[in-house]
Amino acid sequence: MKQVDVMVREVGLRDGLQIHPTFMPTEQKLAWIAAESAAGVAEIEVTSYVPPKLIPQFADAEAVTRGALEIPGLLVAALIPNLRGAERGVTLGARKLNFVMSVSRTHNQKNVRREREESVADFKNIVAMVRALPAAQRPLVGGGLSTALGCSYEGRVSVDDVVRYAVQLAEAGADEIVVADTVGYADPVQVRTVFKAVIAAVGTLPVAAHFHDTRGTGLANVSAALECGVRRFDASLAGLGGCPFAPGASGNIVMDDLCFMLDSMGLVTGVDLESLLKVREIVRTALPDIEMHGAIARAGLPQNYVNADARRAA
Ligand code: ZN
Repeated sequence: MKQVDVMVREVGLRDGLQIHPTFMPTEQKLAWIAAESAAGVAEIEVTSYVPPKLIPQFADAEAVTRGALEIPGLLVAALIPNLRGAERGVTLGARKLNFVMSVSRTHNQKNVRREREESVADFKNIVAMVRALPAAQRPLVGGGLSTALGCSYEGRVSVDDVVRYAVQLAEAGADEIVVADTVGYADPVQVRTVFKAVIAAVGTLPVAAHFHDTRGTGLANVSAALECGVRRFDASLAGLGGCPFAPGASGNIVMDDLCFMLDSMGLVTGVDLESLLKVREIVRTALPDIEMHGAIARAGLPQNYVNADARRAA
């Protein structure tokens, strides 16, 4: 894998598509994955192992995973809500399983119908199951904390709660902790407070950030997280996703804009911006009714733009 300063991970196929009512055909999903991998995105969350009756968009989880695994060099990740999902992922050979629980009690109840302690216990079972596998078959396991910077039911979420569950997932054996602003409430001051606290609590374990741009603070939050030492960011191409409670709002931070900002700051992401922007066409053709966002797609790259690794080489 290419040496990068910051890892950007595509989550649009999961986070972006999960609330979209139109099914994106499997071949189009795989075309998107292949093109974005070719553009230099090394890790893609390709689907979610939830029961298809809950989210029909993921009825093709098996085919998407198998197809993505044929792409050389791509880290194929998928979301898992529970042990059952983790077992599906292991059977399919997914290379990374992203477990998610909510820091907010109400959100966890609504989302996975469990107490947070039950989610942590489930995570321990997932890690035990994975560790029992032969080394070559063992996927990475991400420990995701959603609603870590605010909850649409409870509002403000306590930093102590975020730290407590981050430590519990870390001690249970997570390969990274993902701190997520699921509903796009965060601001840069809050990001600094929460990420500093989590990073101090989990030691050397990598901490990733998952921001939504629902209220326009997404890239400002990335900048704040960078200052805290975060070097792994989730994003979705064209900011797909939206929010059922905030019409017109984008979903995850826009991958294209994130890559431009990082590159412009001199941080190598391994992503070729021109190639990445072309991937939008695949999505536009497959889902003409989906709302697409992105400032770079709209305004273009600056005149005579030279990317970060070329500037460094010069
Ligand atoms: Zn999200």
